[in-house]
Amino acid sequence: MSENVASIARAEAGARTEARLARDRRSRGTLRVARRRPVAEDVVEFTLESADGGRLPDWAPGAHIDVILPDGGAGAGLVRQYSLCGDRWRPYEYRIMVQREADGRGGSAALHDRVSEGDVLGFGGPRNNFRMAPAEEYLFIAGGIGITPLLPMIDQARRLEKPWRLLYLGRSARRLAALEELGEFGAEGELAAGGHRVTVHAADELGRADLERWRPSDPAVRVFACGPARLLDAVEGWGAVPGGRTPRVERFTASAQGGASRTEFEVVAARSGVRAAVGAGESVVEALHRVGVDVITSCAQGVCGTCETDVLEGVPDHRDSLLDDAERALGSCMFPCVSRSREARLVLDL
Ligand SMILES: Cc1cc2nc3c(=O)[nH]c(=O)nc-3n(C[C@H](O)[C@H](O)[C@H](O)COP(=O)(O)OP(=O)(O)OC[C@H]3O[C@@H](n4cnc5c(N)ncnc54)[C@H](O)[C@@H]3O)c2cc1C
Repeated sequence: MSENVASIARAEAGARTEARLARDRRSRGTLRVARRRPVAEDVVEFTLESADGGRLPDWAPGAHIDVILPDGGAGAGLVRQYSLCGDRWRPYEYRIMVQREADGRGGSAALHDRVSEGDVLGFGGPRNNFRMAPAEEYLFIAGGIGITPLLPMIDQARRLEKPWRLLYLGRSARRLAALEELGEFGAEGELAAGGHRVTVHAADELGRADLERWRPSDPAVRVFACGPARLLDAVEGWGAVPGGRTPRVERFTASAQGGASRTEFEVVAARSGVRAAVGAGESVVEALHRVGVDVITSCAQGVCGTCETDVLEGVPDHRDSLLDDAERALGSCMFPCVSRSREARLVLDL
């Protein structure tokens, strides 16, 4: 790359990063729990309002917020991501649903056990790594709590009068949230007048679902899926469906990425010129923190998108669960909480 082209690329990437940081700074605030109610076994819904009663930042289907867990007890101060599953046209409230994770590090348990109506929580965002692309027809596939980002997508498809189908899978119907509101769309399994259909598949009654049967053959259909890793691996395993589009998925926990190799390399924070050697046993974020370069980060698993950073030079070794194949090949951005470098040197717009 010539010096001229490189400096234009640097300027453009810098403007993007500034915009992202400004947006992140602007969108931090506090939310008051207006209502909480159980909506399925081990799932609680929280309706959240701005603590000062003001309008909340806008969002689009697929967006999530960072929730900062309350002080005191297990999980204090942890940041966890929750998809916005309410009505985006109600600007004074957000709605989230939280499933208790028995083997988690305490974030979901803290929300279930220690957050009551009237409590105030810190939040960041909204941020969206799972945008709903235009399509003639939609196939939504949800596994358990993975229904949350898909609910606003269904609402949008409905408003746009686009045909859609939902396959909603779970261990048992008792554990599936939002069945009542989905029921309003018509009898289960029936193709309703608007061309939509909700199919609920509870494994305790019906056994394992035959996912292959749902693989679209019509190029007009776009697939959006969210749920446990095994389900999303299977959907991604379809590869490009007719029309050349790969299914879009959102993972709540990290997928195994990028093999085991962890070599050492140098990372350069271009804005300050500060360099750090990234050891085999640490992440880029950890190496940069060690030399005083702050990177805004949250999940440390490559799933939330908070630390997205532009790459100015070098070839990233992507280990996140967010980018698609085309974005990976482009190599213009990466998530330094997990991703590494394929070459000896990596220059980041930090
Ligand atoms: C974009 C996004 C949107 C999300 N939306 C929702 C939502 O709408 N509703 C919802 O309930 N959750 C959602 N999540 C998940 C949520 O952020 C939390 O991860 C979840 O509530 C569990 O938090 P926890 O602290 O209890 O468990 P965590 O510690 O976060 O653990 C979550 C899972 O990861 C596994 N795990 C934990 N630590 C490790 C480790 N070191 N190695 C391997 N596996 C590990 C655990 O087995 C557990 O199943 C979302 C996540 C993301 C990234």
